[in-house]
Amino acid sequence: MAVVTDTATTLRCDHGGTILTRSSAKLTISTAPVLLFPDLPGFTWNPGCTAPNPGPCASTAAVVSGAAARLTSNGVPVLLSTLVATSNTPSPITAEPAPNHGTLTAV
Ligand SMILES: [Zn+2]
Repeated sequence: MAVVTDTATTLRCDHGGTILTRSSAKLTISTAPVLLFPDLPGFTWNPGCTAPNPGPCASTAAVVSGAAARLTSNGVPVLLSTLVATSNTPSPITAEPAPNHGTLTAV
């Protein structure tokens, strides 16, 4: 089981950068819409990544996994916190659930 990500989840690189997430999903966790797996490559990045050249991280370059096998919203898989993806520098992208926020698990 993995935790489902939502717009309260922080997606970050290894250098302090974070992804500006958004979601149109109708499924929410404590009013925050869940993130949809196909949206990950299209998210933009907040300033703050300190990666040296070719940094900073500004895009998601590769997505290996992270789609829920059995939970969808709007007909598409939700994004799980166990995602495996890298930024353009490349740095692993990790998901950090918001503290004191409801959680939803899925496979
Ligand atoms: Zn970075």
